[in-house]
Amino acid sequence: MKSVEAKWEAVFQKSYGTPKLNIISGKGCYLLADNKKRYLDFIGGIATSVLGHAHPAIIKAVRNQIATVAHVSNLYANPESIKLASKLIEMTGDEDARVFFCNSGAEANEAALKLSRKTGRTKVVSTLGGFHGRTMGALSLTGQSEKRDLFAPIIEKINYVPYGDITAMRRAVSKKTAMVIVEPIQGENGVITPPAGYLKALRELCDEYGTLLVIDAVQTGMGRTGFWFGYEHEEITPDVITLAKGLGGGLPLGAMIAIGPAAHLFKPGEHGSTFGGNPVSCAAGLAAINEIEKKALNEKALELGEFLKSELLTIEGVIEVRGRGLLLGIVLQQDWAKEIANYLLAKGVLVNAPNSNTIRIAPPLIVTKIECAKFVKIFTEVIANG
Ligand SMILES: *Cc1c(COP(=O)(O)O)cnc(C)c1O
Repeated sequence: MKSVEAKWEAVFQKSYGTPKLNIISGKGCYLLADNKKRYLDFIGGIATSVLGHAHPAIIKAVRNQIATVAHVSNLYANPESIKLASKLIEMTGDEDARVFFCNSGAEANEAALKLSRKTGRTKVVSTLGGFHGRTMGALSLTGQSEKRDLFAPIIEKINYVPYGDITAMRRAVSKKTAMVIVEPIQGENGVITPPAGYLKALRELCDEYGTLLVIDAVQTGMGRTGFWFGYEHEEITPDVITLAKGLGGGLPLGAMIAIGPAAHLFKPGEHGSTFGGNPVSCAAGLAAINEIEKKALNEKALELGEFLKSELLTIEGVIEVRGRGLLLGIVLQQDWAKEIANYLLAKGVLVNAPNSNTIRIAPPLIVTKIECAKFVKIFTEVIANG
């Protein structure tokens, strides 16, 4: 029989590294591969599978909706997308918010970038290390030259400043700046948390210059960091919030939410997405939000995050645990994160290594304390045995 690697390489382009596992099913926080092994999923489809795998609420919502009507496009309204948009507006705490639905994080940020052009300004400030997606616009916003440089020229007039450095931001922002885009925590960059007060200071700066503050909550959103969108602990209101990953409860769904005057910048015909607001994805998204609310999974995410942090910090060879809630970056003393991720895989635990000394975990929000303890136990063994 052909290996997973051989089957994969026979059909796919080389844009991804060749995967080691072929996943055939999932249940809760576990995935089953075609090697018959069960894996504890501590990466959750990269922060997408908020309710884990094959959750009854998602199955029910998707089944009902797909048996009713699967797609209508934006030529027509549909009740599910209206319901989800209303819910998202309520979650922002600002009834002046308006939603644009798309299918991914990159598209949500593309939408934000286009929206910012409608201010009449063209300059953008982003952060070094920030990740905003792989399409040309979103890539241009991304402050990682290794991802951008091969695809030059990117969109011009984008200035990248050090993350968490408000002085650098002050130097970069002017009356010509259309938008500033930041993640509340830099996920892809290794789960980097900015100093307290950073988002608040950004809000004040953007107010001073009439610049749109865009919060990319694609990875931090949907309760993962204890709040809906990952910025609320600083008590700010952004002009734009971008969402995807966990938004669809495991289905593809993105949103660009604009608040206040920014909510009225687009005029009919100025932006669109054929699948945006797809009823099946929206039904799944609503089911996910209902479940997160019902079970207070955001509060649980904070508690379990604290539990994981305190346990992991006792392990020799772990020097820091960054992040908030169930988005954590475990910083290792040695540059062997890729090897550790492979050892964990061999022991039946899935994580990701965004750089040479960091293990990122983003388990489903339904993860239990017992599963977290199991993760810590296996992680401890793997670090000890090398
Ligand atoms: C994953 C991610 C994106 C891109 O999302 P896609 O759905 O892959 O396009 C954008 N911003 C952040 C912060 C992300 O983590």
